[in-house]
Amino acid sequence: MPVRDTFDRPLRDLRVSVTDRCNFRCVYCMPKEVFGPSFQFLDRQEILTYEEIVRLSRLFVAHGVEKIRVTGGEPLVRRDLPLLIEQLSALDGLQDLTLTTNGALLPAQAGPLREAGLERITISLDSLDDATFREMNDVDVGVDVVLAGIDAAREAGLWPIKVNAVVKRGLNDHTIVDLARHFHGTGIIVRFIEYMDVGTTNGWVLDHVVPAAEIVERIDAALPLEPLDPNYVGEVARRYRYRDGGGEVGVITSITQPFCGDCTRARLSPEGELFTCLFGSTGFDLRALLRGGATDDELADAIARVWRIRDDRYSDLRTEATADLKRVEMSHIGG
Ligand code: SAM
Ligand code: SF4
Ligand code: SF4
Repeated sequence: MPVRDTFDRPLRDLRVSVTDRCNFRCVYCMPKEVFGPSFQFLDRQEILTYEEIVRLSRLFVAHGVEKIRVTGGEPLVRRDLPLLIEQLSALDGLQDLTLTTNGALLPAQAGPLREAGLERITISLDSLDDATFREMNDVDVGVDVVLAGIDAAREAGLWPIKVNAVVKRGLNDHTIVDLARHFHGTGIIVRFIEYMDVGTTNGWVLDHVVPAAEIVERIDAALPLEPLDPNYVGEVARRYRYRDGGGEVGVITSITQPFCGDCTRARLSPEGELFTCLFGSTGFDLRALLRGGATDDELADAIARVWRIRDDRYSDLRTEATADLKRVEMSHIGG
């Protein structure tokens, strides 16, 4: 039986951030002014080893976790990632293992990841307009690099592929329809994400959010859509189907239609802190227990205790004022 929180939400998903580092500096996530050359990233010895991640993951699965998403920072910058994937994919009871990446390193790594047992993948790509995309990743990576990553994933047999696109008003909202059109009919599902007030460094204001309803309206005007039912309770994306049979598209409505009521996600930071909300300010230090010699039972008890008292519902309660609260960075804790 999965452990349940104060709102009776079961623990079903675990997002594991394997590094706080990234080869991009997306303006909505790791603005260069903050994440510049003098930024102090975690030291190697602070970060959980693969052995530690696997040990904790096994205990999370015993508490009800069915799905693990590996994320970051950029997970593919962590050395030997396929070694972790291999061990996670072998966990008894885990039903779904996936990974979110910016795709730039996929041409070299898609094959080894697939061979290690990864089945599907999510790749972030905010725009197909090269100038816009370079402005967003802020490290001058062109669209062609990520498209090559998507091709490599497909050729390696990673499937289904989802594409995540954050929409920020005035930056890439003029390219929404082009992105949808590009993947229409390919089987790849694009999910447009409302720009969120994660962390405290990206200068988020509500005016920069393009509501999902507007995103859907714009796509629908060019490529007519109809709504689809969720695949399962707690699915974060609202799904739509192209009326011409060209596949599906999704929107993630964290700002305009929050989904805290069904949120079953726990997050593990690179240094082993357990967060029960993307908008949390502090996590529970599992690494101290791990490295202090705790037994599996003690670790499992700690995880259950943290989940049982969980009462997070930040997005339900969001106001302009909450944007000033201290929060963990998205590049630290993962999407
Ligand atoms: N580096 C990988 C990547 O970009 O796919 C994985 C980590 S990244 C933090 C995970 C997802 O979070 C990405 O799809 C990214 O676009 C999204 N993201 C980052 N900052 C965001 C923000 N402020 N609002 C909405 N989504 C955001
Ligand atoms: Fe890096 Fe992903 Fe954040 Fe972009 S969204 S800076 S790729 S962690
Ligand atoms: Fe879950 Fe927190 Fe997001 Fe609500 S705000 S859906 S509780 S992660």
